[in-house]
Amino acid sequence: MTSSRIYLDYAATTPVDPDVVAAMVPFFSSAWGNSSSIHAAGRAAKVALEQSRLAIAEGVGADPSEITFTSGGTEADNHALKGLAFAVRKKTGRSHILVSAIEHHAVLDSAEALQGHGFSVDLIPVDAAGRIRMDELERLLTADTAVVAVMHANNEIGTIQPIADIVRCVHEHNALLHMDAVQSLGKIPLDLHALGADTAALSAHKIYGPKGIGALYIRKGVEADALIHGGAQERNRRGGTENVPLIVGFAAAMRKAIALCGHSRAAAEVLGKRMRVKLAERWKFVFFNGDGAERLPHIVSVSFDGKAVSLDGESMLMNLDLRGIAASSGSACSSGSLKISHVLKAIGRDEATARATLRFSFGRDTTLDEIDAAVAALGSMIDVHEK
Ligand code: PLP
Repeated sequence: MTSSRIYLDYAATTPVDPDVVAAMVPFFSSAWGNSSSIHAAGRAAKVALEQSRLAIAEGVGADPSEITFTSGGTEADNHALKGLAFAVRKKTGRSHILVSAIEHHAVLDSAEALQGHGFSVDLIPVDAAGRIRMDELERLLTADTAVVAVMHANNEIGTIQPIADIVRCVHEHNALLHMDAVQSLGKIPLDLHALGADTAALSAHKIYGPKGIGALYIRKGVEADALIHGGAQERNRRGGTENVPLIVGFAAAMRKAIALCGHSRAAAEVLGKRMRVKLAERWKFVFFNGDGAERLPHIVSVSFDGKAVSLDGESMLMNLDLRGIAASSGSACSSGSLKISHVLKAIGRDEATARATLRFSFGRDTTLDEIDAAVAALGSMIDVHEK
């Protein structure tokens, strides 16, 4: 970002931290061996690979043998859902899948793809704050349920799920739980062994690491079929030469994110509070999505009541962009599409209000002045659209 522009879309992606770039450079320029080769160059790459795996495992309360590198969060979600579904069906014949109604499309679309392979899929509804309805989860779990997917924290509204309770319930029905932890990683403490999820998806580019690298956590003893075949890498779990520079970058980003987590969280809480107070002071017809639930502090999802204003998120975003401010209307992946967000629909927002929704998300460099500037920029747009 140039200094005159204000970036409030860190949940979409973050810049790569300069320390992360510095950690990666040698693995592009001098230590470029293939980690599967047995000569010295290969062994040096292998050492870096395994040190990185260890750092990532330690950062999320896992064992290094439980970490498989992937091309990002999307691949990790695909691998978990499809890999678990096929492995469980082979072993038990179960062919029912449950996914929360507010999952990222990497999960929703993987579940949909599995329908083409004979699996049945149901959505678990959420309450008005975006929390899983535990009564509905109980009702939907059957003796045929193989896999349940519930994300740790939502990318659009920031709601954090009570994963340990959900895991308990899912395990009581002898099903497996996949947890997308892409947004929670580095934002709140993440202890995978304590939470008890069977698989979890991680991604580097939300924590100041490079794009195109992530990891799938597979709890010891859990079987998941491979998604990508073609080599014995990653303990036969994911074929393909490991991308050592990006993996080293992911580990460097993880170390820093874990070290800064407490501080970043406190700073985000101050920023979020400022934005919410300023918006609520100025307009009576704002809703903060996810209110009432435990939430990620760096995401503020604000909806303007469709009965009070005629606005849509896309034109608000374009207007903000013209004023040098970057935000999002929902998830980055769905912006550009005219469909209203499935997350806002699931928490019960009507169509006009869902359209008049913006997501602001903060990063390490976000300042109170930037928050004030964003609210001021919104002011001149919203007032003219008041009904
Ligand atoms: N899951 C969630 C919750 C996300 O927010 C994202 C990215 O937006 C992904 C998965 C996909 O991760 P990646 O961009 O690394 O493929």
